[in-house]
Amino acid sequence: MHHDPNNIFAKILRGEIPCKKISEDSYYCAFFDVHPKATVHALIIPTGNYSSFLDFTENATNDEIIGFYKGVASVAAELGLQENGFRLISNCGPDGGQEVPHFHIHILGGEKLGRLR
Ligand code: AMP
Repeated sequence: MHHDPNNIFAKILRGEIPCKKISEDSYYCAFFDVHPKATVHALIIPTGNYSSFLDFTENATNDEIIGFYKGVASVAAELGLQENGFRLISNCGPDGGQEVPHFHIHILGGEKLGRLR
């Protein structure tokens, strides 16, 4: 999957369009999903331009990968989800249902989620 610099998350990263930001550092940026699928629905994106989970894990540096995943954990804590738990999802490619071609992880929580199917 090709990284399109005009995708909506790349624009959020560059500050060109607004978002409901949760937190950020040099490795990640976290904000709330505009169409929440759970009581709490956050998205975490790396600050580098990677199109998908596969692009990120193949091409990001170890520092970027560690920094990003530590960011995911810190956002879950920041949202108060540690005690009751949460779900992480990363849709990858067409069969995964990925709509935005900038790697992202969904954090879903704040309620008891149903089975995946
Ligand atoms: P995916 O199918 O994994 O690519 O998910 C893309 C997600 O991005 C969906 O849950 C959308 O609701 C969400 N989304 C799309 N545009 C925005 C936006 N401008 N701000 C926040 N979330 C968005």
